[in-house]
Amino acid sequence: MFDLEEDKLLSEIRGRGARRILIQLPDGLKNEGTRIAGLVREKTGADVFVSAVPAWGACDLSLDAATRLKADLLVHYGHNEFLRDASNGVPVVYIPAKSNHDILRVVKQAISLLQGKSIGLATTIQHLHKLPDATKLLETKGFNVYRPGRGPWAHETGQVLGCDYFGLRRIQSQVDSFLIVGSYFHGLGAALSVEKPTILADPYDGTVKVLDQDRDRIARQRYAMVDKARRADRFGIIVSTKPGQSNPQIALSILKQVEEVGKKAVILYADEIVPQKLLDFTDIDVFVDTACPRLALDDPERFPKPIITRDEIMVAIGAWTWEQLLERGLVRL
Ligand code: SF4
Repeated sequence: MFDLEEDKLLSEIRGRGARRILIQLPDGLKNEGTRIAGLVREKTGADVFVSAVPAWGACDLSLDAATRLKADLLVHYGHNEFLRDASNGVPVVYIPAKSNHDILRVVKQAISLLQGKSIGLATTIQHLHKLPDATKLLETKGFNVYRPGRGPWAHETGQVLGCDYFGLRRIQSQVDSFLIVGSYFHGLGAALSVEKPTILADPYDGTVKVLDQDRDRIARQRYAMVDKARRADRFGIIVSTKPGQSNPQIALSILKQVEEVGKKAVILYADEIVPQKLLDFTDIDVFVDTACPRLALDDPERFPKPIITRDEIMVAIGAWTWEQLLERGLVRL
């Protein structure tokens, strides 16, 4: 159901004269790794390594592995470019894996859930090529459709990313509700970033859903988590070494601000931030996530201690009010 653009891949490899390739695939496409590696070897004679580690986004380029393996090309599937010029000298080819799923069926289903006549319409890179059809469909039903402009990480008009909903926030005053075409993950991120009703049309499982209750539930959870952090004394500020998630300067700034209010903090680093890596830091009361904000927001119960985002710590130490945080939106990298 996804276009892996084999012709583009082969032509990039040939055009660049690459002889050793590292291929990253998101987990859902890893089962294509053997076929793609075989194709590349057969058609170009290049050596191929397929990454077995997760590739959550284009924030997660395996640049160090590419360097260590002496690869002269990194092929990243499933996402488009995230950080401009972040490749550290390793050439990167992005192949977004456009989806062949029918989105019009779920967009039609979602119409009865939309509120008002002005709709903010957005989707992920996988369905972006189908957004003009969805726009036309909504317009023929009498809706005014607004598509978000580019954000800091989502580089295409109409696109959202799990950590970039700036475009939606910018058009928020013009629309009555939002329609997000994609998975629950992206729909929820949108709902947490705007204050208007947000409807998800999921072409993968064919469902539609109003996400306002989900937003309220998570906002309540976050408020409770921040409240625990207000009363905490020792913070572990987590920095990721993933190229697009690494924020050491922000971590240093948080460390300073936490110490200024008389609390203790330490900066921890990891590549993949998983709960098991934090289990042994038993002296920490609360972890502060400066990497992917969805780690803290989506599944905080997986972690051994409360985990809050880099913005939520500002509320916990009294630098911002909760209302100021909500004005910025809960999701921000
Ligand atoms: S949501 Fe997280 S994993 Fe996805 S692009 Fe943003 S930082 Fe990367």
